[in-house]
Amino acid sequence: MPRYDFDLFTIGAGSGGVAGSRRAGGYGARVAICEESRVGGTCVLRGCVPKKLLVYGAQFSDAFADAAGFGWTVPPPSFDWPSLIAAKDKELDRLEQIYRTMLKNSGVELIEAHAIVTDPHTVEVDGRSYTADKIMIASGGHPTVPDIPGIEHVISSNEALSLPELPRRIVIVGGGYIAVEFAGIFRGFGTEVVEIIRREDLLYGFDDDIRVAVAQEMRNRGIEILTRTQVARIQKCPHGYSVFTTLGQEISTDLVMYATGRKPNTRGLGLPQIGVELNREGAVVVDEWQRSTVPNVYAVGDVTDRLNLTPVAIAEARAIAETLYNDNPVKMDHNDVPTAVFSQPPIGAVGLTEAEARRSYGEIDVYSARFKPMKNTLSGRDERTLMKIIVDAASDRVVGCHMLGADAPEIIQGLAIAIKCGATKKQFDQTVGIHPSAAEEFVTMRDKVVRPTKLAAD
Ligand code: NDP
Repeated sequence: MPRYDFDLFTIGAGSGGVAGSRRAGGYGARVAICEESRVGGTCVLRGCVPKKLLVYGAQFSDAFADAAGFGWTVPPPSFDWPSLIAAKDKELDRLEQIYRTMLKNSGVELIEAHAIVTDPHTVEVDGRSYTADKIMIASGGHPTVPDIPGIEHVISSNEALSLPELPRRIVIVGGGYIAVEFAGIFRGFGTEVVEIIRREDLLYGFDDDIRVAVAQEMRNRGIEILTRTQVARIQKCPHGYSVFTTLGQEISTDLVMYATGRKPNTRGLGLPQIGVELNREGAVVVDEWQRSTVPNVYAVGDVTDRLNLTPVAIAEARAIAETLYNDNPVKMDHNDVPTAVFSQPPIGAVGLTEAEARRSYGEIDVYSARFKPMKNTLSGRDERTLMKIIVDAASDRVVGCHMLGADAPEIIQGLAIAIKCGATKKQFDQTVGIHPSAAEEFVTMRDKVVRPTKLAAD
């Protein structure tokens, strides 16, 4: 008789939980996964996937506008938001079914209710106790908003993905991934967008040149960005809302969306009670093997609040399955993880920013190209692509690649392999470009950026 009901009990059927459970099941482990909401998690149901579908939808406005330069006559296009939302929901239903089938085919038992860990080897679900040798917390995160007067009127990205109608005007608060992506989505559909950020620039953590350039392109598209501004209060009015800023502005709008960060889903799981340490934000503290302070309890993905990206959660969870059930110890490497912002135009980045590289390596070489992509010559679109390569001068190793422009995420994914392999600038130069493409600029940049002395010394 096995000592426990399961070898592995996973809490949360999002990208990380499902990937790790399936991999463990594939190696013969007896696995259960518990989910209190729908199967699929943030990425599939409330994040990456529906967001990207709306990004695709929003990009058609560019295609219609650009077509004339290529000889097309396009009748004034019309757009029906409910049709897009219905199509998106249908796709999410399909994906959820696929996730369920995949779990079943991997022999993973799905339990659909809220789980509470009652001791290091016991999970209680709906009044029933399950025992497990190992527990994997993959419960994700949720949007968080500051406590200001009128905050009860605002929506988060969760609601923005399923609005019954497209707002004519929206105020978006925050300057991170979600705020920037939704500003582009709504603007693409013709909504008047005001984005309010408390810093000077959007997207803290990205390369400074990219941050400045993306704001320029967003403004060119008609998005108003109010910087160094905070919302003081929000008031409901007969026809929408008034947003009052700390600088004394009043903005009338139909909808207010907050994208001011996310918090780990650890409340109500019983974790501190069994000795699992949480940090100040409520995230599970884990070591390099994803182990919490209770050795048989592991955690992956957003609930650990490190690199909150789907592929990272998946890799972390699979590393656990490899280590525990395939006699193949794997530690997740959090260095050089590529990332993208599906803004319009999009951003792709991997490795260090110029400022980070300067701090880490001292002497660096920076290569940069800003150009009008070929498509925009005939379309007349006034939008420029920006690319940057950051090189450690001593070793000639490329330590960062950054891009703002069409297809940036697709291009940076390939460059991430080169960076992971430790490619040098000389090897970039030896690589033959694909012509005509924007990507070829990454292998043809020859002139170093010369910075003013003061900046270079920073
Ligand atoms: P982020 O942490 O990226 O950004 C939060 C933004 O809100 C920042 O600009 C922050 O400003 C601002 N902010 C925080 N608190 C306040 C406040 N009280 N008042 C005003 N502004 C405030 O969070 P997001 O919600 O955008 O996204 C959450 C995470 O989800 C991301 O970090 C990312 O890991 C993941 N994600 C990834 C995507 C992708 O890969 N494409 C897409 C969407 C999300 P400040 O900079 O000053 O702190």
